[in-house]
Amino acid sequence: MNEFRYQPLYDEWVVIASNRARRPANEQTAAPQSELNDPFLTGSETKTPPEIYAIRESPSIAASWKTRVFPNKFPLLALETPPVYSMSGVYSAIGGFGAHEMVIDQQKPNKHFCLFKAEEFRDLMQTFRDRFAALYQDQRISSVTAFKNQGLKAGNAIAHSHSQIVALPFIAPRLAKQIETSRDHYLRTGRCLLCDQIASEEDEKVRVLTRNRYFVAFAPYAPRYEFETWIAPIVHNSAFTQLTKDALNDLGEMLEWCASRLGVALESPDINLLLFTDPPKRNHRQADYFHHIDRFFHWHIELLPRTRALSGFELSSGCYVNPIPPETYSAYLKDINI
Ligand SMILES: [Zn+2]
Repeated sequence: MNEFRYQPLYDEWVVIASNRARRPANEQTAAPQSELNDPFLTGSETKTPPEIYAIRESPSIAASWKTRVFPNKFPLLALETPPVYSMSGVYSAIGGFGAHEMVIDQQKPNKHFCLFKAEEFRDLMQTFRDRFAALYQDQRISSVTAFKNQGLKAGNAIAHSHSQIVALPFIAPRLAKQIETSRDHYLRTGRCLLCDQIASEEDEKVRVLTRNRYFVAFAPYAPRYEFETWIAPIVHNSAFTQLTKDALNDLGEMLEWCASRLGVALESPDINLLLFTDPPKRNHRQADYFHHIDRFFHWHIELLPRTRALSGFELSSGCYVNPIPPETYSAYLKDINI
């Protein structure tokens, strides 16, 4: 049974996922999959765990899907695992309660993330939006995270293009950190931290990559990864789950603009897409935890090209090293004509 274990020296939780050691070899190497053994192709819908959600061209034709969601066969966490807390000396653990969903986002087995078209990104974002809204209804879930791993360096374990959604019984530590820093900024200034960053980017212009009606894409001032790119709503918005149809279309176009240029600049890199949005408002041990969160938290997407492994210095110090200034690579990306 999987469980969360707490490392007190780092104040960090680790998921011990012993069930994933039994995954088939192909899923551990992301080797190109032959169509014979790929259970995620159209026409193979009965070979996956039961479908939770799908976007279909024609609702009555099973194989007409554009995205499909079902529980991960080798989940990090499961809704059936009781979130029982245990302690032994300095150690504590919680049963691996949560949800882990697979999002098949492509009918074509090995299509690279950087070749996705705007409509494909739009459908993926709509799938994330709808699944987040559904998972937020479950009172036992405190935060949801969505991501895509493209390539081995980005942690991909399955050849057929897919994304994933993980729901946790606590607020994910990276999201909690963003909430904490954004709240501190709001209490000091009365403003949203990411709104201030976007205003600063729009003033300086040098790191802004592109903008459309709803979104801006920019190279963050302090990128951890080469060619790291962020996408955020221009007008303050805390809730990805409230995304409108118009905004979804614009987000699809924005993702295509960024991904296609990153694909050219870095020659189809391994890459992660991460989505950060405000969590459902539950009871929290800190009584005012969610007070004004809709004013100070700003949802956004991070695209992180994984061109190299992290070094010992980065692991020991916690300081990332980036050899390419964002001012340089943003100019380079803007010059690419597609
Ligand atoms: Zn904002």
